[in-house]
Amino acid sequence: MQAALHLVYPPQCLSCGGLVDSDFALCPDCWRDTPFITGLVCDSCGTPLPGEDNAVVHCDDCLTLARPWAQGRAALLYRDRGRDLTLSLKHGDRTDLAPPAARWLHRAAQPILRPGMIVAPVPLHWLRLFRRRYNQSALLSAALARLSGLPHIPDLLIRSRRTPTQDGRDRDGRFRNVTGAIRAHPRHAPRLHGAEILLIDDVMTSGATLAAATEACLAAGATRVSVAVLARVAKDA
Ligand SMILES: [Zn+2]
Ligand SMILES: [Zn+2]
Repeated sequence: MQAALHLVYPPQCLSCGGLVDSDFALCPDCWRDTPFITGLVCDSCGTPLPGEDNAVVHCDDCLTLARPWAQGRAALLYRDRGRDLTLSLKHGDRTDLAPPAARWLHRAAQPILRPGMIVAPVPLHWLRLFRRRYNQSALLSAALARLSGLPHIPDLLIRSRRTPTQDGRDRDGRFRNVTGAIRAHPRHAPRLHGAEILLIDDVMTSGATLAAATEACLAAGATRVSVAVLARVAKDA
């Protein structure tokens, strides 16, 4: 069946559309231009750091700015094809990118996954959801939960108010913009109490949105929150 399908629809590179050997793959050129994060990373945000793997270290950003979450990982750097793929998933109707992106995310998040964690996406406001028709973070979190065998609650968190875009704001502005904008869905309050949560988002820039989402989980009684993102905007990246 798969072979017959491939005659009609030969597998294409996720990024450039060139022909590749298998479904959900990148061609060698796009693979080379996709900045997958490997080796030693900041334990809070997943930024790559110089040094030997297996140490617990933190980047300058996370040392300066205390993160309310316990651990964090990222699959890609937000540049080159890493940026293109992330933007295609967000704005380009490329929902087909979610399963392969979730596999990259799953690999990156492996060291911070813990049994019994509840996986949940960072929420979009319903108006934005209505315009975009899907929440890219929820597509990622659903696929990641399936891969890791962890429970998924897509509406664990909700936006309690609409926030203007984070684009073009400095770090303090980004934090001010989202403070108090996210809360736990009252329906899920019993599940959150005493739970460990893994929050999923597509991009981490300042970490302001993830901090607001983490605080919403902790306020609702979660004991520990970790974060995983598809792409990390890193300084000098
Ligand atoms: Zn390609
Ligand atoms: Zn960091």
